[in-house]
Amino acid sequence: MRPKAEQTRFTPPALDTAWLPDDLLPCVEFHGHLCPGLVIGYCATKLAMQRLGIGRAEDEELIAIVENDSCAVDAVQVLTGCTFGKGNLKFLDHGKMAFTFATRRDGRSVRLLYRPQLLPKGQTMPEEHQRAWTIKQLLTHDRLELFEIQDDVLCELPPRAQCYETIWCDACGERTMATRIETIDEKKLCAACRDQTLPIQSNERKPE
Ligand SMILES: [Zn+2]
Ligand SMILES: [Zn+2]
Repeated sequence: MRPKAEQTRFTPPALDTAWLPDDLLPCVEFHGHLCPGLVIGYCATKLAMQRLGIGRAEDEELIAIVENDSCAVDAVQVLTGCTFGKGNLKFLDHGKMAFTFATRRDGRSVRLLYRPQLLPKGQTMPEEHQRAWTIKQLLTHDRLELFEIQDDVLCELPPRAQCYETIWCDACGERTMATRIETIDEKKLCAACRDQTLPIQSNERKPE
């Protein structure tokens, strides 16, 4: 803990982009703003890609498994090319700042868990200064200390994305991937109709 006098003398960096690494800028553009969460995702991804010796994924050769749905995940998507659409970004709703990366090339994987306790909070700063200060700390701190690192943590890689046939749900009449249909009381039902998860009006069309 710093003495109070030293804290009040501290001048935080201006929140400009001049000192940001070039490859963080497309992450900021994609995400919409610069924030500490995005930078945590940036640092985790850079460290993992370096550790696995890999570049951005054109296809599905790289897999990312994220255990949160925070700002950080946008940096993961931009830097790795692992996206929801390609099916090589998996979301586990664990509420943890943890990121696992794996490569199909040699089956290697690494899990990084963020260790926020390493960054002391600048309590005496206004909020916008604190954000800038935290971002600067994250970008300049030794990345090996920012994260708890577990190498080769996956015993099995997730399967590649597949195309499945689609069939009609007997309740809403919408085409649904066959693997997401369940038969209940002899009716083939989609997940939305089974669980009533979406507040959607009935699809019945009224005659004009
Ligand atoms: Zn954000
Ligand atoms: Zn349905």
